[in-house]
Amino acid sequence: MKRILFLIAASLIIMAGCHQHNSENKSIKVKYVFLFIGDGMGLQQVNATQVYIDSVLKNHQNLSFIDFPVQTFATTYAANQYITCSAAAGTALSTGSKTSIGTLGLNYNHTDSLFSIAKKIKGKGFKVGLLTTVSIDHATPAAFFAHQGSRGSSYDIAKDLIKSKFDFFASGGFLDPFGKKLKDSVESIYSLGNKNSFVFTTNLASIDSLKSKYHSLVYSIPNPAPESSIKYRIDQDSTDITLADLTQKAIQTLNNPKGFFMMVEGGKIDWACHANDAATALNEVIDFSNAVSQAVDFYNAHPNETLIIVTADHETGGFSLGNKDNKYSIKLSLLKNQKISKEQFQILAKNYFSRVPKPSFKEMLNLVKEKTGLDNENLSLGLTDNEIKKLNEAYINSIKPNKDIKIKSTYLSESTEMFSSTCIDILNRKSAIGWTSTSHTGSPVPVYVLGNGGVFFTGRLDNTDIPKIIGRVIGLQ
Ligand SMILES: [Zn+2]
Repeated sequence: MKRILFLIAASLIIMAGCHQHNSENKSIKVKYVFLFIGDGMGLQQVNATQVYIDSVLKNHQNLSFIDFPVQTFATTYAANQYITCSAAAGTALSTGSKTSIGTLGLNYNHTDSLFSIAKKIKGKGFKVGLLTTVSIDHATPAAFFAHQGSRGSSYDIAKDLIKSKFDFFASGGFLDPFGKKLKDSVESIYSLGNKNSFVFTTNLASIDSLKSKYHSLVYSIPNPAPESSIKYRIDQDSTDITLADLTQKAIQTLNNPKGFFMMVEGGKIDWACHANDAATALNEVIDFSNAVSQAVDFYNAHPNETLIIVTADHETGGFSLGNKDNKYSIKLSLLKNQKISKEQFQILAKNYFSRVPKPSFKEMLNLVKEKTGLDNENLSLGLTDNEIKKLNEAYINSIKPNKDIKIKSTYLSESTEMFSSTCIDILNRKSAIGWTSTSHTGSPVPVYVLGNGGVFFTGRLDNTDIPKIIGRVIGLQ
């Protein structure tokens, strides 16, 4: 009897819940949608950053999305492979359909086009903006406007950007705006854009005056880091433009009574995790969180009409707090001693090793101490005999005559600059950071939601659910 009563009570609660959803659905008038994608940002990256803030920085500045009222997980698998890539995951997040690895805005066998939520919302008269810390033709932003079988077709992706007629783009720039990778000579993206009422600028302040004269605005930062990206936060100084600056400018540019959709990508969380560089990755999560703060400020002024979703396309690196070397103790405070990204450390080390005469091992150890804190005197940062041996082997490798050190920025784990790689690896191990991969993993990603319509993001999600729910909340279906 008790069981029957429980079942009746449970079904009444479920019915009440359904009724609540229906009535809420009618009353929802969301006009402003922010979709934040932390590329490669799994739950562990978020949690480790919050622990780093609480226990090391102690500045009481929680990640802006850590306490959002709705929190769940989304699976990320691609149509033809469980561990996804940014192109297939970006397409799932933008169109609501699974596709194959490397594909943008097309179905898995490239026979049909898939159309993004951004395009559909634009068709309803909303303004659309896409922002990223990497290049605007990179997989995640491209998934919102491009229809290409290969994510590497940078020039063709940029041509699709012009066709999109979206209102505002901001990024580190383009990878191949002149089509140099193609055999035939082609018209530059800038020339094509100018014929279609696009304007390109590297002056963020000029956006305000340009917006009344052109249909579409494309901002690229003036001094991009490698691969047309924005510098890592750990390498920035106070004069550098941040993702938060771009988000603030995008809100000013796109805000209108009809509404807007904005996708903001923290693209280099992924790169830092590919490089197994924890200090840089945690700083990128903070940078991303600062961008989300701009949207939260907007939400506070328009709480009934705003929806903010913060998620990731996949996890990168198989990141963990805790590793085999340290068992049950974590030492995140050691990461604070790292002053530059692994990328910049590699470039710096390459410059040292290119010198004639070559630097001594002692000189290189001084550089290690300056940039990472690792040395022989500091107790917790003290290099063991085995670590000194490893660094010495890397040093001997790097000073070989005529050694051509190639730095491949995106996937630094593949770089041939062994000395700085070894050094960052030692610091990560000492800090009790675990990395199981230099690629992506199949872990589900967290989803944090604030604002009207948040109630629909409950329960276990798949990444394809997210644009479908946005469409429903904004009144597309
Ligand atoms: Zn990646």
